[in-house]
Amino acid sequence: MHSLRARPKQTALITGAASGIGADLAKTFFEAGYQLLLADLDTPAYLADFESRAQDVCFVQGDLSRAADCQELVERGTQRFSTIDILVNNAGFQHVCALEGFPVEVWQRMLAVMLTAPFLLTQAVWPSMKQKGWGRIVNIGSIHSQVASPNKVGYTSAKHGLIGLTKTAALEGGSLGITVNAICPAYVRTPLVEKQIATQAVTLGISQEAVESKVFLKSAATGSLIEPSEISSLVLYLCSDNAKSVTGANWNIDCGWTAQ
Ligand code: NAD
Repeated sequence: MHSLRARPKQTALITGAASGIGADLAKTFFEAGYQLLLADLDTPAYLADFESRAQDVCFVQGDLSRAADCQELVERGTQRFSTIDILVNNAGFQHVCALEGFPVEVWQRMLAVMLTAPFLLTQAVWPSMKQKGWGRIVNIGSIHSQVASPNKVGYTSAKHGLIGLTKTAALEGGSLGITVNAICPAYVRTPLVEKQIATQAVTLGISQEAVESKVFLKSAATGSLIEPSEISSLVLYLCSDNAKSVTGANWNIDCGWTAQ
C-alpha cells in the first residue's frame, strides 16, 4: 500500500502545535485524516479551521518544561482517543547569547523543553505503542543536532542530545514495531527564525533580506529558507506503514549545509 493517509482512528500527538512547523504539521495531519492531540503554551489560532471534524481534535495547553504537564498531556489524550499512535516532539525555542554569559535558567529550560520533554513523552506513549506492536516517534532536531554555531550553546546541546535519545529509542523499539527518527532542518521560515532575522538586521545594520541571504543562507547550496510544508511531508512519510524499516535515522533538510 502506498498511501500516506491515516489508518482508521490513528492519533498523532504534536507538541509546539500553535506556531511554525507544529502548526503546519497539525494542518497536514488533519487533512490526512488523523485524530490530533495538540500541545502548546499558546492556544493555536487555527483551531476553528478544524470544525468539520472537531471531535478528532484535542488541544491541551501546558508548559512542557514541567514533567507534570507532559504526564497530564498523555493522560488527557489517552482518555479522549484511547491510544496515541504517533508522537512528534516539535516544541522548542531559541536563545542567542555567548557561552560566557549564557543564563543557567535558560540552559535548564532549553534542556527541559527540547530534551527532557521528548524523553518523558516517549516513556509515556511507549507502553500502548508496545501493546499495539505499532508506533511512530519523530523528533524535530536541527542542523544544530549535527553542527554548532557560536552563541547557541543551549540549543545546540539540547538538539545534539535529542539524537542520542532518537538512536537509543530506535534500538529498543525495533523489535516492538516502534520506529524513532529525527529530522534536522536548517533555517525554516517560521516565527522562531523571523525573530532572529529581525534582531540580526538591527545588530548588523543591514536589511532583513540581506540577513536572510548573506547570513542565514551563507552555508546553503540552495537559495531560500525551507518552508514548513517540507518538514511536514517527511514527517507524514515517516509515520506511514511504508516507512516501517526506517528507524534511528537523522534526516537532514539543510539546503546542503552539511555537504561541505
Ligand atoms: P516556533 O517558535 O514557530 O514554534 C515553536 C512552538 O513551540 C511555539 O508555538 C511555542 O509556544 C512552543 N513551545 C515552546 N516552548 C514550549 C513549552 N515549554 N511548552 C509547550 N510549547 C512550547 O518555532 P518553529 O521554527 O516552528 O520550531 C519548531 C521546532 O523546529 C523547534 O524544536 C525548533 O528547534 C525546530 N527547528 C526549527 C528550525 C527553524 O529554522 N525554524 C530549524 C531547525 C529546527
